[in-house]
Amino acid sequence: MPTPIYLDGHSTTPLAPEALEAMSPWWHAQVGNPHSPHLAGMLASQAVERARSDVASLIGCDPQEVVFTSGATEANNIAIRGTAFSAVERSIERREIVVSAIEHKSVLSSASSLRTAGFRIIEAPVDENGVIDISVLERVVGEQTLLVSVMAVNNEVGSVQPLAEVVRIARAAGALVHVDAAQALGKLPLDCTEFDLASLSSHKMYGPMGIGGLFVSSAAPVRPLPMLFGGGQETGIRPGTVPTPLVAGFGAAAKLSRTRLGADAAHSRALSAVFLEEIRSRQVQFFENVPEKERVPGSLSLRFPGNDAMSIIGRASDRIAISEGSACTSGQITASHVLTAMGYTQREASETLRLYFGRYNSPTEAAEAAIVLSEIVRR
Ligand code: PMP
Repeated sequence: MPTPIYLDGHSTTPLAPEALEAMSPWWHAQVGNPHSPHLAGMLASQAVERARSDVASLIGCDPQEVVFTSGATEANNIAIRGTAFSAVERSIERREIVVSAIEHKSVLSSASSLRTAGFRIIEAPVDENGVIDISVLERVVGEQTLLVSVMAVNNEVGSVQPLAEVVRIARAAGALVHVDAAQALGKLPLDCTEFDLASLSSHKMYGPMGIGGLFVSSAAPVRPLPMLFGGGQETGIRPGTVPTPLVAGFGAAAKLSRTRLGADAAHSRALSAVFLEEIRSRQVQFFENVPEKERVPGSLSLRFPGNDAMSIIGRASDRIAISEGSACTSGQITASHVLTAMGYTQREASETLRLYFGRYNSPTEAAEAAIVLSEIVRR
């Protein structure tokens, strides 16, 4: 049976061959803890620092501002909880954290967990396209705001957020800015030096799973406290042995993404256009939840009225790998908080599919996916 066409790049992307190659020696042939003082350790340390430079170049910062973590979930936890605890420790009196209503759960849950520590969490709404409402943000960010956390690109619907405006509003109020950039890395140019903190994930940009990073600006007035305590690695913000193979893979993926940024975006945009043209030609009724001008290239959030997304996914699964717009929590299907925040009903959310056309997809695959979906939906 042929392998299904993989179109679920918002969940995870295939590993770039270059990343696999960069990791390969560090799994076996070259042994060494990057924190050891001997030659083997020094070689591992050099590989880690090379990768740090490559990740830093992708986001426009200094290598020393990159802290390796296990992924964006951990980076989001450190950015939000670590900053809040740091503020408490330093007797900074601001006790409000503002997030968008469509953040990843690791941001929303990190923020809510701080309620018991005396923080007020304010969720700024988004419009029907999944873009944060700047006028509301302007009203809710004020002198009590410690941190504003807004994602660069949403992982469920692909909407791109107006970060320049977010930064302007936060700075005017003297608040810190955190950006969850997990879905923007390698898809959009990103200059993290505008922010105080930014979360990165390797497996959303053709690198290995289990590795990511937190950008911590050297200019940030408050540095987050660690969530773990140990040997003081990664400037004490994230102790634990740095995993050389994963970091080497992340670095190689970052280097590749930097050189391919424009080409990858153009390719992704072209493939989603092929898909849309093919499916439209088949008279299938569907709606695009996010218009092209608001979404990251290659991402599609589509609603097929009268069709249950989970049932489409099940029937298509031996031919295409796609994802749904509702989250399955404890065995119960609940409407996605992202689609709900955009104003969709539970039913509309349950009719929504999420697709992503990435670097390793071809136009033939895009057309084939449209054929498979239209056959299922029409049946
Ligand atoms: N933030 C966003 C926007 C994401 O899409 C994801 C992954 N789904 C995460 C955070 C968590 O990333 P990781 O898997 O690296 O922990």
